[in-house]
Amino acid sequence: MMHTPAGFVPAHVTPPALPATSLAFAFADGKLLVSGDEQAPVVPVLADLARAAVDGSRHYLGQLQGVDCVAVTLADGTPAPAGFRLTGLRPLFMRLPEATLALAARAFQVAEWDRTHRYCGRCGSPTRDKDGERAKQCPVCGYVAYPRISPAMMVLVTRGREVLLARANRFPGAMYSALAGFVEPGEAIEDCVHREVREEVGIDVTGLQYFASQSWAFPHSLMIAYTARYAGGELRPDPAEIADVRWFGCDALPDLPSSVSISRALIDATVARLRAESSVFPVG
Ligand SMILES: [Zn+2]
Repeated sequence: MMHTPAGFVPAHVTPPALPATSLAFAFADGKLLVSGDEQAPVVPVLADLARAAVDGSRHYLGQLQGVDCVAVTLADGTPAPAGFRLTGLRPLFMRLPEATLALAARAFQVAEWDRTHRYCGRCGSPTRDKDGERAKQCPVCGYVAYPRISPAMMVLVTRGREVLLARANRFPGAMYSALAGFVEPGEAIEDCVHREVREEVGIDVTGLQYFASQSWAFPHSLMIAYTARYAGGELRPDPAEIADVRWFGCDALPDLPSSVSISRALIDATVARLRAESSVFPVG
């Protein structure tokens, strides 16, 4: 599961001299610049970018085990120089070391914010990076814009020894996962769980239990995961969002998400708990 790596010290003030050996997470059009082949991608250091004569606006991220890390926003449409390629983050799952992948996801969110907040949302003037914090400020009207983070709930609903898994329209292949949805203005995260479950599949739940949270850079979510128990109602999936939803027994699970995601950790932990409970209190 993706999380802030051990040995990472976050910071936003760029040191006076960034060493040429600093890890450079450079993005063009939302894609990361890497070298190496598909199976063994390599994140460049600043010296590599200098040699390839590519640069953009920089945002310091901090140090990973003593190595400076910086996000670099390249101009939209910048092509990959010779020896490099631009890639989405998902193809890097399991192919980059976990700590590097987590930093790439963090850098992606900072670079996306940099790219999409170049002008003031209130008066349209060009913004500037604000001193002292990760923010952009409008020099004309003073409006301040911070990196956007969107809280979202995830919930795995249980009913006896079964778990409720859905296949969203946007999922690839035959993958099923826990339910998820974004928090709306005015909602507590618990309100969001109850509303989204009712909207997406038409049932009521009870007994919410916090599981864990995870930053998820697609594009800027904070997933906050729960388990809950089925409390009533019939499955009525919303066809706009859900292609299929079913109760699955612990021993007959469908294709599940990658182990990088909190959804997989939530499903694995819950299924393990249900199995352990049913071995103590056998069903039937
Ligand atoms: Zn303004």
